[in-house]
Amino acid sequence: MTNIEQQHAADVQRVQDQVRSFCAQKKKIKIYHGSTNSTRALRFERDRIIDVSAFDRILAINLDEQYMLVEPNVPMDKLVTASLQFGLVPPVVMEFPGITVGGGIQGGAGESSSFRYGLFHDCCLQYEIVLGNGEVRTVSPEQHADLFYGTACSYGSLGIITLVKLRLVPAKKFIHLTYRTVTSFGEAIQSMQSIIKYTADFVDGIMFSKNLGVVMSGKFSDEQHIPVATFRKPLDEWFFLHANTIAHKHRLYDERIPIADYLFRYDRGGFWVGQYGFRLLRVPFVRLFRVLLNSMFKTRTLFRVLHATNLSQRFLVQDISLPQESVLKFLEFVDRKLHIYPLWLCPLKPGQHDKLSPNFLTTNGVINVGVWGEVSHDYARFVAMNRELETVVMKLHGRKVLYAHQYYPPDEFWKVYDGAWYRALRKKYFADTVFPDVYEKTFVSDKYKPSVLAGVWRLITSPFKLPIS
Ligand SMILES: Cc1cc2nc3c(=O)[nH]c(=O)nc-3n(C[C@H](O)[C@H](O)[C@H](O)COP(=O)(O)OP(=O)(O)OC[C@H]3O[C@@H](n4cnc5c(N)ncnc54)[C@H](O)[C@@H]3O)c2cc1C
Repeated sequence: MTNIEQQHAADVQRVQDQVRSFCAQKKKIKIYHGSTNSTRALRFERDRIIDVSAFDRILAINLDEQYMLVEPNVPMDKLVTASLQFGLVPPVVMEFPGITVGGGIQGGAGESSSFRYGLFHDCCLQYEIVLGNGEVRTVSPEQHADLFYGTACSYGSLGIITLVKLRLVPAKKFIHLTYRTVTSFGEAIQSMQSIIKYTADFVDGIMFSKNLGVVMSGKFSDEQHIPVATFRKPLDEWFFLHANTIAHKHRLYDERIPIADYLFRYDRGGFWVGQYGFRLLRVPFVRLFRVLLNSMFKTRTLFRVLHATNLSQRFLVQDISLPQESVLKFLEFVDRKLHIYPLWLCPLKPGQHDKLSPNFLTTNGVINVGVWGEVSHDYARFVAMNRELETVVMKLHGRKVLYAHQYYPPDEFWKVYDGAWYRALRKKYFADTVFPDVYEKTFVSDKYKPSVLAGVWRLITSPFKLPIS
């Protein structure tokens, strides 16, 4: 056994012992890993958590079979740096560098290559998982397939993942990105549908308004003759502003982007939600301040601030998976009722066996719509808006991505997700005693009390990790 394998085995043993002890006490626990990209307010109590922060190691990279053995708390930037040394990348890399492997599997994460490969968990070949009775199982499509598929998007409600066998694919140094300007929702969806039939490696889109948007398709490339754009340095423009400028000036535009800059292009500004931070700080949203405040507006910091200040009920932050057949109706609803722009569009491959996945929809193609914007500060109106959105999504046969707030009454929630199947799976794998179920984990019952001052204090007392009380 290598040193790193010994450390891994010792940490797995610790988790097993803790789970057994909580199981004996019949205590429900939370999985703590130091960070989060969820927008729900999270409280971690010292005697009710299992801390998996230490699981941040890469155990092996197999170049012949093109996979990695990786622990769940490895973030995307570390994963990409390690695999790119060998000219490989995971087929799906979430856009924020701090999203972790475990959080991505459990949280239904996807991005612009997901039309081809599915969500992040669809790129996983095997998990090592600690069950609610402390046993360790290795699960894959061949072994305990029900748990392998069931744990994806279950928000840690079926067990604690301690190791992941993750597929890799060959990469090149650059992405050749083509921007196509579109002038309606319909044109954007049609354009994405026709591109994914051909040879693109990456496809996503942004609607800046009902009548202006851009569809972007990328290919791995070694070409030399087109201009290079970067998005990670303080002087670089935020990606969505760069794309907006292109949409106003060009019908069609090509450029090369270094691969890590492409994969994490939305990090600075958190797509565009960082704009609201400028408003809160009463700082003009201009280039000079974007450069000066650069490090504050990367997603790792943005999420820490959001959690510390409890500001998230002022924002409607939702990703919705819709069948391509009904997505236009949803976009019309967002335009009419919420009027939130920009909107993010991303085509995704439908799910097949992963029953809790937002993509487990009856359709040939799923489109994810990211609706992230400021809404009413009045709590009752905020909840009413969320409920209206949930009702519309249900009518249109879509699903929300549950990293976000959910306000469903239980009976409605279990109409969307197969409750009988899920309860049987939890029973079979001893999850009931220690792990809260997916409804408990994602339902928001509290009104959060926003406070910028209290937030600053929380950040000072716990600057690097989510606090534990
Ligand atoms: C504005 C916004 C935009 C977003 N855009 C994108 C996007 O473009 N693409 C994308 O892919 N995602 C996006 N996300 C969502 C993000 O991918 C998910 O929230 C993801 O789950 C975050 O992972 P995390 O590492 O922060 O984990 P967390 O949020 O901390 O955890 C997610 C769940 O996983 C569980 N968990 C964590 N580790 C383990 C483990 N080892 N074993 C079992 N369970 C575990 C946790 O208990 C929790 O229930 C976006 C979110 C926001 C707010």
